[in-house]
This record gives sequence, C-alpha cells and structure tokens, in this order.
Amino acid sequence: MDNHGYLEDLENCRLCPWECGVNRLEGERGICRVGIPEVAYTGLTQVLKTYAVTLLGCSFKCIYCNAYRISQYPDSGWMYRGYVKPNLMVKEAFNSLQTNFAREIGVKKLSFTGGEPSIHTPYLEEVVAQIREQLPDLEVGLATNGFCTLETMKRLIELSSYINFEIKALDSELHYAITGAPSKPVLENAKLLAYENPEKIRVFRTVVIPGINDLEIPKIARFIKDIDPEIPYRLVGFRPHYMLYYHHAPSRDFMHKMVKQCREQGLENVDYSGYYPGGQLILNKSHKNGLKNAYHILNRAGCYKHPRNCGYCSENDYCPAIVLEPWTNLSGD
Ligand code: SF4
Ligand code: SF4
Repeated sequence: MDNHGYLEDLENCRLCPWECGVNRLEGERGICRVGIPEVAYTGLTQVLKTYAVTLLGCSFKCIYCNAYRISQYPDSGWMYRGYVKPNLMVKEAFNSLQTNFAREIGVKKLSFTGGEPSIHTPYLEEVVAQIREQLPDLEVGLATNGFCTLETMKRLIELSSYINFEIKALDSELHYAITGAPSKPVLENAKLLAYENPEKIRVFRTVVIPGINDLEIPKIARFIKDIDPEIPYRLVGFRPHYMLYYHHAPSRDFMHKMVKQCREQGLENVDYSGYYPGGQLILNKSHKNGLKNAYHILNRAGCYKHPRNCGYCSENDYCPAIVLEPWTNLSGD
C-alpha cells in the first residue's frame, strides 16, 4: 500500500455531520462503516459521457437505495474491487479517456459516484489533483447526497466542475425516516452551492417515491425557487428496491403531475426521467401519510427505532435493517 499521507483526515474522521472522530485507517468504523476509500468499479459510460468511479459506502441508509450492495458495504456482504492507489486510478482513467471507444462515444469527463463519494473527499482530491497534471482542463463531476460538513462541501465544490445534488426531503422527520439522517446539513450545503457557485450545479434532483415523499416534492421545488427560479431540478422516478422492493413506483402520469406541481411553485427548469411502465397510479388516503408509511416499511425491514436516527443508534454496527435479500422483505401494504 502507498503512503497514506493524503488520507490524514481519516485518522480522526469528521468529514460529515456525524463527526464520528474515528480512525478509519486503523480499522475503526463510524456511521458510514467504511475504512480506507474503496472502489466498487470503474467504467466509461456512454449515457453520462464520463469515466465513472463508483465508490463504496454511504453516510445514509436510504430505504429505497437501488445500489444498497454498494452503499451499505461492507455490511451488504458483497466484495468489490477495493482500494486503488490514486496514481493507478489516474493511469486507468487517463488510458480509458484516450481510447478510440471513448472518443467515439464522446467521453471527456471524469465523475465520482457511489455510494456517497463525499465520505472519501481526500481520495477524490488526490485523484483529481494528479489527473489534472496531465489533463488540466478535464471536467470532473460529482453525484452527492449533500450530507457533509460545510468545510467538506467547500472542498468538493473546489475539486468539481459540476455537481448533481440530491435532496430527498425537506421535512427533517421524514428525511430521518427515509435516510436515517437530518435534512438540515443537506439544505445548508444546497444553499452554499447555489449561492456561492451556481455555475457548478448540474441539477438538484429528487427520487420520487409515491406515498412516501411525493407531498414533499413541490416544497423542495419552492425551496430551490426561492434561491433561484432558474436552477435545474430533475425528478427521478423511484424503482422498487431494497426495503421498498414491493412498493409501487410512479407512473408517467404521476411524474407529469409532479413536474407540473413544481412548475406551479415558480421553478422554471423542471423535468423528470424514469417511470414505471403501466397504468395510472392512484393513491388512496393512506398514502398521504409519508412518514407513517416510511416507518411501516422500516419496521418490516427490522428497524424498530422511532424516531429513526442512524447517527445515534446503538444498533449501527449490526443494523437489523440491512436487507440482504430485498425480495424477502414481503409487503404488508
Ligand atoms: S460517517 Fe462521516 S464522520 Fe463518520 S466516519 Fe463516515 S465520513 Fe467520517
Ligand atoms: S436499526 Fe438503527 S442503524 Fe439500523 S436503520 Fe434503524 S436507526 Fe438506523
């Protein structure tokens, strides 16, 4: 293994608001449960036009996570590539970006995703610094849940050319239920990004989960509009997975309705991607209580904490709600 001087922050890790203070380089585990930055996989993607580096681990435990094997690593029980020295990562990224295939599909960027890349900020900084020695104008993208300290957020803004920033709910109670964490730090970071470096916003985005956070969507749109009505907001149709394996996904009509409601808030640039092919989704009265529905699902998955707060949960090391086989999390809906 190489000299880990650049990972000094991880000896007393306070990169996100959980501020665990653990030494991740010596095997101590914080709320995110990961140690040294590890990579799930890398690859050129035609759709995103980027060389994507997917990192393991996350500061959240989202009930709908469609990458739970990566985000809940190592507790998910899957093995991935592991630690890749920054100079090797740079070499691989550089070589991939120079291939004819990359040129043919128009890939010119590097991006970090996960899991949650912000919990590995020093690694991102090192890779970006090294690759920009060879490719000074390389665009670097980041997809984040926005849950990091303001200090970490400033570092991420500094290293990134553009950021996809997810806001899962405004209401803190609902945000806790969906993610295990508070919304306040996310909203503060959203404001920091939007007020200080609006040119770096690719989009704000929200995964739309009918019956859980759909009533929040117009409120999030309002929050963004109050900063700047021209900020792009993208709604992503939830796909059934993880604790919500048997939960209904939004129809196209439902997504259209959500977009319309956001525009009615005065937000100009709203669009959506992804919906469940099929008929119209009709929500009945019981679907109006997203918080109650989220707790129903959490209970079924094994989280008996109410209110949920993964940062202060005695079960974090052996969380009973890490659903290894989502299809066994049978619906009681
Ligand atoms: S949860 Fe946050 S503060 Fe705690 S170890 Fe992980 S990145 Fe560091
Ligand atoms: S049991 Fe604890 S760690 Fe697991 S989801 Fe519930 S609150 Fe979070």
